[in-house]
Amino acid sequence: MKLLFCEDCKDIVCPPYVNLRKKFCNCKRHSVWWIDRYKGTLKVGDNRDKNNRAYVIGLSNKGLLLAPDRQWTKEAVHDNLLNVKAGSLFEATQSLVWRQRPGENENTSWDTK
Ligand SMILES: [Zn+2]
Repeated sequence: MKLLFCEDCKDIVCPPYVNLRKKFCNCKRHSVWWIDRYKGTLKVGDNRDKNNRAYVIGLSNKGLLLAPDRQWTKEAVHDNLLNVKAGSLFEATQSLVWRQRPGENENTSWDTK
């Protein structure tokens, strides 16, 4: 799962389920939408065109789907990291959560209009 984090209003926005449908943060500066949600590719728009005040946050779906009686303990995180997709940011960071600016990985980018 990918989310937008706006540094201006501190909102966290989940892109709409439908490809190409935008959703804005609370202050309306940033928007986020899926190019192809099955491939995990998304775009972030910035109404001020400075492109430096938003992050994309990646959350491991497997981590989110931990059994209801489990928490994100060190052991649970370790177990999940053994099963992450090879070459993924989760593998590279050894974390079930990552944060990058749009464009810092191949699946996210700024909308350049
Ligand atoms: Zn905002």
